[in-house]
Amino acid sequence: MGDDELLSGWGRSTWSRANATRPASVGDLRVLLADVDERGLIARGLGRSYGDQATNAGGLVVETSRIDDAALSVGPDGRVRLHGGTTIENLLRTVVPQGWFTPVSPGTRFVTIGGAIANDVHGKNHHRDGSIGSHVEELELFCADGTVVRCSPDVESELFWATVGGMGLTGIIVAATLRLTPIPSSRLQVDTTRLASLDALMDAMRVADHTSRYSVAWIDLVTTGRCTGRSVLTTGDFAPLDGLGDDALGDGALAYDPRQRVSAPATVPSGLLRRATVRAFNEAWFRRAPRRRIAELQTISRFFHPLDGIRGWNRLYGRPGFVQWQVVVPDGAEEMLREIVHTIARSSAPSFLAVLKRFGPADPAPLSFPLLGWTLAADFPAGNRSVAPLLDALDVKVAAAGGRIYLAKDARLDPALVPTMYPRLGEWQAVRRSVDPGGRWQSDLARRLGIL
Ligand SMILES: Cc1cc2nc3c(=O)[nH]c(=O)nc-3n(C[C@H](O)[C@H](O)[C@H](O)COP(=O)(O)OP(=O)(O)OC[C@H]3O[C@@H](n4cnc5c(N)ncnc54)[C@H](O)[C@@H]3O)c2cc1C
Repeated sequence: MGDDELLSGWGRSTWSRANATRPASVGDLRVLLADVDERGLIARGLGRSYGDQATNAGGLVVETSRIDDAALSVGPDGRVRLHGGTTIENLLRTVVPQGWFTPVSPGTRFVTIGGAIANDVHGKNHHRDGSIGSHVEELELFCADGTVVRCSPDVESELFWATVGGMGLTGIIVAATLRLTPIPSSRLQVDTTRLASLDALMDAMRVADHTSRYSVAWIDLVTTGRCTGRSVLTTGDFAPLDGLGDDALGDGALAYDPRQRVSAPATVPSGLLRRATVRAFNEAWFRRAPRRRIAELQTISRFFHPLDGIRGWNRLYGRPGFVQWQVVVPDGAEEMLREIVHTIARSSAPSFLAVLKRFGPADPAPLSFPLLGWTLAADFPAGNRSVAPLLDALDVKVAAAGGRIYLAKDARLDPALVPTMYPRLGEWQAVRRSVDPGGRWQSDLARRLGIL
């Protein structure tokens, strides 16, 4: 899948390799910095953010992803120093066979460590383990004055936390030291439960907060009436060796083989994303799931990265592409979550794929997205005219309820809502200005939302 293929959201993508460069060293970065004009520069990992965070029209884009990380070595305590451009894909290929796993994995392994930290990404275990910033011991940050500053939760901590979730706007992460999670095997023991309504799902997820390391629910956002929000909850953890049975005999308890198995069709029938089709798909998906299945063994790829198994999955939305909307609403604002689910289900904007996850407490990063509560992520076809007014109206209500939109997925938020959704924006801006008084780090998102 080409990097630019994912940038098919609302705003017109300005990504083009014409203004991109791939420096080989910190020395090269210094040369770039010396020449940069007022449009500035921004780091780009694998471009898996859905909007315009890693594009910079009229300025420079610094590509960081690298594929040659064979020398990656993990200490006995699970500490590992990684280049900012190392991908989670490469990290897992190296460390899973040694009995380690990334402390946090987003829903795709095609992201870089720098990109993951710059969005303080979360996984299915946020309620238990927090987001990735909580597992970073140290960052080596290339700053606007050409120096590389080492920062950590103890040293230069304000700069550290402004960089975690800072969307590349404090500098370029050239290296990061991460604490990995030990795993007994590369399989997960997964429980699957079908739930008939949103309230039943929320009850089950509150229980899972205490019983399961990983949890995520697929949720039906098109069916109305009593079954609104019906869902399929999967929870699990890595399987102990004695839970593997025959599964481990063939290829080893720590085997890891993340192949892409099928390709999405190159062209999509235009009717596929109509409401009736999406409803039929949701019906089939719900019925296909077992009512209750316990301890099914699943691979890392199947459990954590199901979309990565389908080459070009984003093409399923056809030429106009899709919009992803991810929101968090705090614990105590469950009425808002109910309103969101019911409003989307009653609207004429069909959401093909929607997931609900639990978040634990926020970390100290001022622009980090997660906060204690519920996060819903939903895809909408960008060509549907009802989508924009629907999401605009929901954004206002979410902000008033103390929630926020995930900027890694955004291409359309009203800038006026950002200070309400991210009340510590001013704190972040002060740190940023102190390390980049000349405004070298710039991006399309930063200009669109006016956050610098
Ligand atoms: C299928 C799919 C599933 C996803 N699931 C999740 C999920 O479950 N949880 C979640 O949190 N996110 C999720 N995401 C979003 C994704 O994890 C983030 O957008 C991530 O930041 C992308 O990393 P990247 O390397 O592609 O960075 P890019 O998209 O290239 O860049 C993202 C930001 O990071 C900055 N950046 C990149 N490299 C560096 C660096 N070296 N130093 C400083 N800044 C840098 C960029 O400037 C930009 O602001 C998902 C995305 C997809 C496509």
